[in-house]
Amino acid sequence: MEVYNGKSVFGGIAIGKLYIYNKKNLQVKRERVEDAKKEVERFRAAKNAAIKQLGELYKKATASVGAANAAIFEIHQMMLRDNDYIESVENMIRSQEINAEYAVAMTGDNFANMFAAMDDDYMRGRVADVKDISERIILILAGQESDSMETDEPVIIVAEDLAPSETVQMDKSKVLSFVTVHGSTNSHTAILARTMGIPALIGTPLPLEASMNGKLAVVDGDTGQIYVEPDEETLAGLQEKYEALQTKKQLLQTLKGKETVTQDGRKVMLYANIGNYKDLALVLENDAEGIGLFRSEFLYLESDHYPTEEEQLKVYRAVAETMAGKRVIIRTLDIGADKQVDYFEMPGEENPAMGCRAIRICLTRPEIFKTQLRALFRASAFGKIAIMYPMITSLEEIRRIKQIVAEVREELTADGIPFGEPEQGIMIETPAAVLISDQLAKEVDFFSIGTNDLTQYTLAIDRQNDQLDEFYDAHHQAVLRMIAMTVENAHKENIWCGICGELGADPELSKWFLSIGMDELSMSPGNILFIRKIIRETNVAEEGEAIRKHFL
Ligand code: PEP
Ligand code: MG
Repeated sequence: MEVYNGKSVFGGIAIGKLYIYNKKNLQVKRERVEDAKKEVERFRAAKNAAIKQLGELYKKATASVGAANAAIFEIHQMMLRDNDYIESVENMIRSQEINAEYAVAMTGDNFANMFAAMDDDYMRGRVADVKDISERIILILAGQESDSMETDEPVIIVAEDLAPSETVQMDKSKVLSFVTVHGSTNSHTAILARTMGIPALIGTPLPLEASMNGKLAVVDGDTGQIYVEPDEETLAGLQEKYEALQTKKQLLQTLKGKETVTQDGRKVMLYANIGNYKDLALVLENDAEGIGLFRSEFLYLESDHYPTEEEQLKVYRAVAETMAGKRVIIRTLDIGADKQVDYFEMPGEENPAMGCRAIRICLTRPEIFKTQLRALFRASAFGKIAIMYPMITSLEEIRRIKQIVAEVREELTADGIPFGEPEQGIMIETPAAVLISDQLAKEVDFFSIGTNDLTQYTLAIDRQNDQLDEFYDAHHQAVLRMIAMTVENAHKENIWCGICGELGADPELSKWFLSIGMDELSMSPGNILFIRKIIRETNVAEEGEAIRKHFL
């Protein structure tokens, strides 16, 4: 047995034979041509054919993995229309009187080296893309089709690296897992693997020898390991893990595509919480009906500088487009307390959980807030985005937010930049907000209860302090009463109310939430199908009264 450690980009277990995926050997030789003009024409025809192929790939990928993931093929098309690239190839053909294949290969290498030397992560990520487009043209020039897999049974694909176009063209029913020697976590291939929801490892130092072909292997996407020819005991253990995961998955799979509705017809919006774009695969896999909480501060935490308007727009737009018309609630940054970011240069605080965090930072540093709001308003032209403000305690804060939002609208209009009109709601996560929720409800489009903070501030128990566990009661009457009061006040003003704190996924409370009329529950994607099961088994008309009394 050989064990190799890689970096996991998606969890789960895959058991099957290895398939060593070798690219077609593109042996490009330098050859002199008599008629350079004709050779340039040959290059142009191949380039146009490549653009056409990419258009077809884009359509195919949009249908299978969504527009945002398919966007790479549009980028490839754009790269093929890039004048610098085209001129470089044509110049080489003309000045050196060489064959188009060689000029394309050289240009591809030159551009790849240039991108690799850049400081910008995004540009470095384009190295694989420029190689990919060059190989596509060379294959066309050589009269060859792109690679297709020759295997009858599902396999674990092992490759040096995989270009996005290769991943998408693969017959998905034959792929159990991807394992690559190179690749980056943010590469499009990694994103596609996540969207497909199969275990995938990158950076795995596996020998790509022909003798590896057909060997039995197990990929453990949870630990980032691949076992080649596992011994009996290891295989049995992994098989058990695989089966347990399968049983759980299969039971819940039957609920995919089903409505989240009680026996007596009450519908609940079952949404997912995410921290970044990468979590979208799980959102799709678990059939969330929307995103109830996108913790946008992770964009700031993952960056070493204030994310620019364009950087943010790119992410928000991609999420909105991937969710294709479903509601995406993006919370404005909730920095502070346990989420500290160096470049914010916040002064140290005695008690950060009660300090300068979330909306308090945004209102005292409106330039940071405005950048995010501009990106959010712009992104909402591409999907159903809703904005949610955290840590609200007063009407005055709402008034100040509205003032800044009005300025953002005016500035975007003056700049001639298109934007949409997102819904705007608030998190109810302080006792103050609960107690004035009747007034707050008149000012916003929706409420989402943040039970993590609401519990900490109501019970005066630091949510980070594990020594207080014996005093922590997630079902404390005070918290439950606050939740019930918030829902009631929301409904009086005809707005909807949900929960995005961890309590929303507490199966012991699901029926109670229904009994008090909760409209939305947002949770980690992995919990969604299980909670849908409970909701579909509940009859609020029959059980509601008893459950309500049981908890309050
Ligand atoms: C909450 O407080 O319940 C919440 C959802 O926000 P966070 O956990 O990010 O503070
Ligand atoms: Mg919170």
